[in-house]
Amino acid sequence: MRPGKPWSMSEAGFTKGKVGTLSNAEIADGLTSLAQLMAAGKENPYKVKAYQRAAARIRTFSKSIEDLVREDADLTTFPGIGDAIAACIREIVTTGSLGKLEKLRAGASPELAGISQYPRLDPKRVLRVYKKLGIASIEDLKKNLVAGEVEKVFGLRMAQHIRQGLTETHAMLLYRADDLRASVEEFLLTNCGVRRAEPGGDYRRRVEVIEEISFVIESDDFQAVVGRLERFGGRTPLVSSDKHDAVFALSAGILLRLREATQGDWGLALVACTGSNAHLKKLSAVTGPLKTLRAAGPWPSEAALYETFGLAFIEPELREGYDEIDRAASGTLPVLVKRADILGELHAHSTSSDGAHSIEQMAGAARELGYEYIGITDHSQSLKIARGVPVEDLWKQIRFIDKLNARLSGIRVLKSAEVDILADGSLDYPDDVLHELDYTVCSIHSRFGLNREQQTERVMRAMDNRHFHILGHATGRLLLKRPGYELDTSRVIEHARQQGCFFEINSSPDRLDLSAENARAAAQAGVRIAISTDAHSTREFGLVRYGLDQARRAGLTKDDVLNCLPWSKLSALLRR
Ligand SMILES: [Zn+2]
Ligand SMILES: [Zn+2]
Repeated sequence: MRPGKPWSMSEAGFTKGKVGTLSNAEIADGLTSLAQLMAAGKENPYKVKAYQRAAARIRTFSKSIEDLVREDADLTTFPGIGDAIAACIREIVTTGSLGKLEKLRAGASPELAGISQYPRLDPKRVLRVYKKLGIASIEDLKKNLVAGEVEKVFGLRMAQHIRQGLTETHAMLLYRADDLRASVEEFLLTNCGVRRAEPGGDYRRRVEVIEEISFVIESDDFQAVVGRLERFGGRTPLVSSDKHDAVFALSAGILLRLREATQGDWGLALVACTGSNAHLKKLSAVTGPLKTLRAAGPWPSEAALYETFGLAFIEPELREGYDEIDRAASGTLPVLVKRADILGELHAHSTSSDGAHSIEQMAGAARELGYEYIGITDHSQSLKIARGVPVEDLWKQIRFIDKLNARLSGIRVLKSAEVDILADGSLDYPDDVLHELDYTVCSIHSRFGLNREQQTERVMRAMDNRHFHILGHATGRLLLKRPGYELDTSRVIEHARQQGCFFEINSSPDRLDLSAENARAAAQAGVRIAISTDAHSTREFGLVRYGLDQARRAGLTKDDVLNCLPWSKLSALLRR
């Protein structure tokens, strides 16, 4: 499906003196390279992050940043762009280079300059690898990676970091793609003469990391649409095209695919454009080859197509090629959990640890959302970097919440904590205080390097404690940044089932942990799953939609989800 080496646009990084229209990607590359070299020096990490975030935003803009600068627009009206970053952007556009970046480059060693061509590599870590292996170039780094040397000396996580940093596909987290989808869709409808546009592909199936976003579109003149789209975001290079299909390299780093359809074959085009390969293969066993179906139309909608072949409508999130075709034929598809089924939040932080809002503010926001309850799960005492709550303060917090509940109406605040699972599998608070909590979320935040056997034992020993309820972010993964620790999930699921413990799907867009695959396995074993946001501020409750995406991809119904239960039923389940 995906071309092997689509384009090499940002591989070369930002180079000085480009002529012609600057694409938003090239401007973003300038900021990213600057951030990377700043990170390699002693620059404040918050400042580095601000540059990285601004670059990521710019990549999703539909308007040409160059045009905005030339029109003298105030760039600081865009979120995340302050005066310093706006000045950098203006300098790139007006002079074709960036003085700060050139200065840092000139002062950088050849090793560092080489690394800075790959913006996702962490220069400090890679330089450590260079030193230990006695190498000095990206070429040698690649060779050592392929030969397994990096993994042997530095372990799996370092090898994965480097592999991801060096890959030429520029994957993107789903939540960033949501902004991008909106801006591409608007551009298609208002600037390109497109009558109708609907997204498909991995994006529509809500896959957590995507490399391509595709649209089915209807217009009078497909070639004219293709021509206009090349102006999206300043300049968007066309990678390939034929009569009804075109692929572009978006500034955001992923591909954009357009597929032309008519009113008469809209449903067929959407079906063909949405399902995974495995799904389409199973589907065509029922319908015959999709290519030949066109003549047998019309297929104005997906529902019409499914109905013709005796299938119930299959939600896009289920079109992965598991058992959905059989279940659509037998009328036994799950009714997927939806936003309105969620009755409360079970993982949220307050100012007691590293959250931005007080317990009362979090409770007020949860009530606004129509929730029945919210669990306050601040970090436990050992997690110093996240201002973990000392045991005396947890006792105070318990008494505070009791008083608060007596005073509040319309929401119940649950007494809880995100309790660290220590290296030996013990929990980070004594039993007497844990006993006073309504439930716990227990998570691993340290010693990621233990091996699979040790890590699995650690989690299972923790589950043996009767004050353990929900395993927080089960594998600790950060998508596109670090893999999770190794865990034998089938053993952990079986142990959770025996002990009456639960899992969560952590809705943070870069965690989404459990994965859909593991969530499916847990639910099939009869282990309920919480869909939690791990909110560190009132704004982050909205992230629940990404947890719901994962849950739906796992085929979960509201009966599989812990926080679809009212408190009266949930509290009974939490007694072990
Ligand atoms: Zn955590
Ligand atoms: Zn948390």
